[in-house]
Amino acid sequence: MHFETRAIHDGQEPDPATGAVTVPIYQTSTFVQDAVGVHKGYDYARVANPTRTALQECLASLESADHGIAFSSGLGATTTLMHLVDPGQRVVLIADVYGGVYRMTSQVYEPKGYQFEYVPADQFANLREHLDENTRMVWIESPSNPLLNIVDIRAAADAAHEVGAMLVVDNTFATPYLQRPLELGADVVVHSTTKYLGGHSDTIGGFAATNDPTIAERLYFLQKSLGAVPGPFDSWLVLRGIKTLAVRMRKHCENAMAIAAWLDLHPRVERVFYPGLPTHPGHTIAAHQMHDFGGMVSFLAESEREAVALVARTKVFQLAESLGGVESLIEVPALMTHASTANAPFAAPRNLVRLSVGIEAVEDLVSDLDNALVPAAVARA
Ligand SMILES: *Cc1c(COP(=O)(O)O)cnc(C)c1O
Repeated sequence: MHFETRAIHDGQEPDPATGAVTVPIYQTSTFVQDAVGVHKGYDYARVANPTRTALQECLASLESADHGIAFSSGLGATTTLMHLVDPGQRVVLIADVYGGVYRMTSQVYEPKGYQFEYVPADQFANLREHLDENTRMVWIESPSNPLLNIVDIRAAADAAHEVGAMLVVDNTFATPYLQRPLELGADVVVHSTTKYLGGHSDTIGGFAATNDPTIAERLYFLQKSLGAVPGPFDSWLVLRGIKTLAVRMRKHCENAMAIAAWLDLHPRVERVFYPGLPTHPGHTIAAHQMHDFGGMVSFLAESEREAVALVARTKVFQLAESLGGVESLIEVPALMTHASTANAPFAAPRNLVRLSVGIEAVEDLVSDLDNALVPAAVARA
């Protein structure tokens, strides 16, 4: 069946007890047993909960995965995946990785003896040179956060597999509607469901999926053993968000493309980063491995001062961290989402502005940005 149909139905049979069309929120911590070990598949809610099961089955289907495992947050999924690596082993990450992932690798796992190397996106053509037999994992984002760099997922998978490493793709920016990394050779796909999958900026969640039965078995074990699980209500909110993922993503992409093209011509914008623009260095690969180019757009303001000033002037775009909700958000990554990478060699440019383009009327978004870029005082001068 097609993506839109699976998003609404997979994992979501009418409730066997009552016939409820919508999967109920099974707000319970434990389940009664008829005799010791005799139960309906559920014994304790950290191990499994029916609302969470529905989410896992639905999202696994959308990522073309046999196995899906839900977590309490994107970083909950990340820290659990890092337990597939042992101290002393190497992980190679894309340099402009999500700031919170960098904080985790550099400040939590590196002191424990894990080895990390951060490879800039433009050096991924030579990825193999950065890998050795001790490399257990390659971790990429495509499009990346916040510079919207594109990595050729199939080529990265081939390079990783040559040394016996697994490729993990953080698919938060693209969502399975636009890109399915497992179909391109990735071993694990990971999400912050907080973003487009939830889609309404009202919950925090994470997810990982794989077709590798050994990795899956280990992840199910780690999910219950480390305990970073989502509650039933949070699982339900993500499940509800996913039902409209396809229609929301189409509008996010349409609005983002229009805004990127408009910013590209704006005299007060130095440079625009959007993989849908033909001038973007990753455009050809993105066009090949994605169905469309996503809702995230970044651009360089004239200076850090101008970046800070303009994000405070927008009225429809709200100044906030996070992304992927129906409402448009604006931020300065170097001072906000990516502040923890400030001292890294690949810190976000300080005059970079990141937009999460929502699904409002695009005319209102464009005029809001125009008013912020050219405030009345400047226009009169
Ligand atoms: C937000 C985000 C994360 C972290 O997810 P949380 O749900 O905030 O823990 C990881 N990767 C990317 C690309 C993100 O945008």
